[in-house]
Amino acid sequence: MDFHIDHHRLRTDSANVPYMGSPNAGGVLKPRFLIIHYTASGPDADISKYFFQKSANVSAHLVVRRDGAITQCVPFNVVAWHAGKSQWTGKDGTYYSGLNNAAIGIEIENWGPLNKSDGGWVSWTGAPVDGSKVIEARHKFGVPDCGWEVFTTAQIETVIAAAQAICAEYPIEDIMGHDDIAPGRKSDPGPAWDMNAFKAKVKGEAEIGDAGMVVHSSSGLNIRSGASASFPKVHDIIPDRTRVLVHEASGKWRYVSVLNASGQPDFSGWVHGDWLK
Ligand SMILES: [Zn+2]
Repeated sequence: MDFHIDHHRLRTDSANVPYMGSPNAGGVLKPRFLIIHYTASGPDADISKYFFQKSANVSAHLVVRRDGAITQCVPFNVVAWHAGKSQWTGKDGTYYSGLNNAAIGIEIENWGPLNKSDGGWVSWTGAPVDGSKVIEARHKFGVPDCGWEVFTTAQIETVIAAAQAICAEYPIEDIMGHDDIAPGRKSDPGPAWDMNAFKAKVKGEAEIGDAGMVVHSSSGLNIRSGASASFPKVHDIIPDRTRVLVHEASGKWRYVSVLNASGQPDFSGWVHGDWLK
């Protein structure tokens, strides 16, 4: 899949992507950042239709559904209303308060955090979610352990292609999650979205980023619920040469997401850092 941008609209070689203009937008945007969101909604709700309503009072530039279908709701040179109260300090020291004025927003259709119910998983609305599409993980800003709906491969590929087109057209300095610019208030896109792998792919890098490490232990590595050997194991032994993403440190211990064969986070916990390289 390949996109490019013409007159601030995303398009393929043959046509603009579907457009559903949101009234919840206005003012000139000179994009400096790209913000990734989840919609916190299920497969039955088309969020671009929600953004189309004035009463929604929110919008984003792009919406990506579970099947990878993409809709543009606001031209990239117009401010959309996706970030809310937020802040960020740019690489040159510029302080941004309210990122709407500086950022393109992409909303990805996904429930976000899920709760256990009767041995299965349910969304915040109570809708059941297939357990094979759920990872258990802790949010990097300390939201308690819960389930998170995984993003589909079609969504990941579409968002990478759209982000590559955006970065080719505008001077995008950084890509952040909504949680990065509104920590504590927002938790999207959350631990199911592998931001390091995503950013590396957008930049065309083969590596998974600074936080990516590999297990080096011929007998495998225990993964536990806390930062010492006294905590219970949360999963079977992680095999030698497994790739992990390191999120935080406590003494010699590291809190990691264990990556599956396709490079996506599978489960999380604490491992001893001596066995990571
Ligand atoms: Zn958001």
